[in-house]
Amino acid sequence: MTIGWCFDNTYSKLPNSFKENINPVPVRKPKLVILNNVLAKELNLDFSSLDNKKISELFSGNSLPEGSDSIAQAYAGHQFGHFTMLGDGRAVLIGEHLSKNKDRYDIQFKGSGKTAFSRNGDGRAALGPMLREYIISEAMHNLGIPTTRSLAVVRTGEEVIRETSLHGAVLTRVALSHIRVGTFQYIAARQKRDELEMLFNYVIERHYPNIKSSKKKPIDLLEIVLDNQIDLIVNWMRVGFIHGVMNTDNMSISGETIDYGPCAFMDVYDPKTVFSSIDQMGRYAYCNQPVICKWNLTRFAECLIPLIDHDQKKAIEQATEIIDTFEKKYEEKWLNMMRDKLGLFGVDDKDKSLILDLLTWMHQKKKDYTNTFCHLMNLENQKDRDFEDNDFQNWKKRWQDRLKIKNNTPEKFIKLMRRVNPLVIPRNHKVEEALSEANQGNLKPTIQFLEILKNPYNEKKNIDEYQMPSLSNKNYKTFCGT
Ligand code: AMP
Ligand code: MG
Repeated sequence: MTIGWCFDNTYSKLPNSFKENINPVPVRKPKLVILNNVLAKELNLDFSSLDNKKISELFSGNSLPEGSDSIAQAYAGHQFGHFTMLGDGRAVLIGEHLSKNKDRYDIQFKGSGKTAFSRNGDGRAALGPMLREYIISEAMHNLGIPTTRSLAVVRTGEEVIRETSLHGAVLTRVALSHIRVGTFQYIAARQKRDELEMLFNYVIERHYPNIKSSKKKPIDLLEIVLDNQIDLIVNWMRVGFIHGVMNTDNMSISGETIDYGPCAFMDVYDPKTVFSSIDQMGRYAYCNQPVICKWNLTRFAECLIPLIDHDQKKAIEQATEIIDTFEKKYEEKWLNMMRDKLGLFGVDDKDKSLILDLLTWMHQKKKDYTNTFCHLMNLENQKDRDFEDNDFQNWKKRWQDRLKIKNNTPEKFIKLMRRVNPLVIPRNHKVEEALSEANQGNLKPTIQFLEILKNPYNEKKNIDEYQMPSLSNKNYKTFCGT
């Protein structure tokens, strides 16, 4: 029986300035930790003919599949606002796999050893952060949010040195592509028009072939990427997801959530929530995500200027016109998303204040974001006296009056709310609990957690402990580059 690999590598055929040809650095003693058989099936891959040893060899990069052609991709990026040359310093793209219906997926190993872009890093990754990316990316997918996926994690049998010595690991990541805003920034900075055109045409061919015959492709691309990013951020805001490092190198041109580093889900509603230990100024705080998204898109627009018009002034005017649509588009989509969360049909002048008043109340009362919507759907896991408070009762009366318009019925509004308000999210303390056990060789809590996160909108029995926010989560911190 064959596995079903169908490699058709296109990025590796681009000129050498786009990448370094390099294989993963073999590891000492690979051992499979987790394999995502559901995703494998979606990719038309079947690893059942391989024993665990062979699977471990494969997903550690020790034995490369036929047809693969490994590269490290070059890119740059604004990290916390500062422009830096980056690139895959600890990852290799082993190739592009085509599923049976010809959908194209990047297969990338993260933690696969040093490359030309490693700078001072060791090119490796630790088990905890790789499993963390696995859990959160799969949770995001199940929440219906575009994201890279996780196919496997293997331990390397080697230690990686961070603050302490940790188990090394390799994550296999699957993505529509790994082309980032930072990829454009890298090529644009080289100031070679033919290379910029090559990347641009590659992206249109691969991701947006529907604009191929347009007379204003660069502007169309900017607009599509802007629209996709707005949709993505609105989705993050819906579930309380905080990416943590929205650097331009961590913004995918395909519109997927990418590079799960110090990300986390917000428990108590506070728009200024930051989890990342290095985000001292709150640049990537929950409420700042749309602002930063626009900032990153402006960097993307700058890269496209030479392609928009030969007259730079005209090109800037056209790009600015698109970028200037951000706020209005975002607000409209955010309002509609919040209307859905509240089960509201149609549009009413007072919707925005109704929504903001609820958020203000949640903030003042330090209420859990996810569970407040569970309360409104009558799916509270524990009685909470705060909801008896006068301010909340007055708000609820306004909400219930608003619910009555547009022929809304309880069946209809509950159905709408249930579609967009998750009952479970990957709560930080549960993530940490699972990872701490996994580090000691016990994968059971991780497997169980992944199972709970599979259908986040469905009611399940005995999931209280996954729904409760941690009582000691106030100073929860996450770390980058681990
Ligand atoms: P990230 O924080 O994972 O988005 O990584 C930012 C940049 O640092 C990318 O260019 C990574 O490839 C690089 N990087 C992160 N960790 C390491 C490491 N351990 N060794 C080499 N490069 C790294
Ligand atoms: Mg990154």
